[in-house]
Amino acid sequence: MNRKIVVAGNWKMNLLYPDAVKLASALSKQVSSSRSMEVIICPSLPYVTPILEQLRQDNRDISVGAQDCHTETSGAYTGEISAEMLASCWVKYVILGHSERRAQFGENEELLRDKIQAALSAGLKVIYCVGETLEQRDSDSAFEVVKGQLLGGLKALDVTKFEHITLAYEPVWAIGTGKTATPEQAQDMHAEIRNLIANKYTQEIADGTSILYGGSVKPHNAEVLFGQADVDGGLVGGASLKVDDFLAIINASG
Ligand code: PEP
Repeated sequence: MNRKIVVAGNWKMNLLYPDAVKLASALSKQVSSSRSMEVIICPSLPYVTPILEQLRQDNRDISVGAQDCHTETSGAYTGEISAEMLASCWVKYVILGHSERRAQFGENEELLRDKIQAALSAGLKVIYCVGETLEQRDSDSAFEVVKGQLLGGLKALDVTKFEHITLAYEPVWAIGTGKTATPEQAQDMHAEIRNLIANKYTQEIADGTSILYGGSVKPHNAEVLFGQADVDGGLVGGASLKVDDFLAIINASG
């Protein structure tokens, strides 16, 4: 299938400046994206510009993403960052709908819909995250929850914009816990997600959409997860903070 493999590192609120630059620099020396594979790092915002500069100097094609953006373009929103601002700093991606933002900041589909529109209007690409809690999985509602998040967040999205969307299935119970979805659980949900996209848009669009798995992806489990038919790479938290682990995960995707 002709869709891109993507490995994205979500650094969350981790690393002080010297360590962040060191990590980016180490990756920059050893990683390069290609036409069929893209590596993205999503550092904390103050580090974005120096890291982009470092990557540019090293002539490395690693993309840089942000971990959130505001719905508005500018104005009296103290502490917030607009998608336009990110795009003006050459940020290429933004992660939206991460379960930590849904749980800790009350982000719902209505708000995320507006953030997605804002990001796309600014020319950013979006990594849109969906995923169920353990309670929801145990009560057999995982699929319904993911469907609601997916179709809710993408409700107003024009078909022509879909090529700028990458999806990430991240079961909440697997994030930062060391528990990983089994390859079968990941594949089943990814196939369901692809089906939903095919039904809402077209099979061609669904087949061209990269769907990443996230939730305790580590060097020892990356290959089997990425080997599933509908898993097109990963969104990686903890392991993206360690050069060797992240490199091993990237290599497992190839
Ligand atoms: C994440 O936060 O997106 C994530 C997948 O984290 P981890 O890899 O640490 O589970």
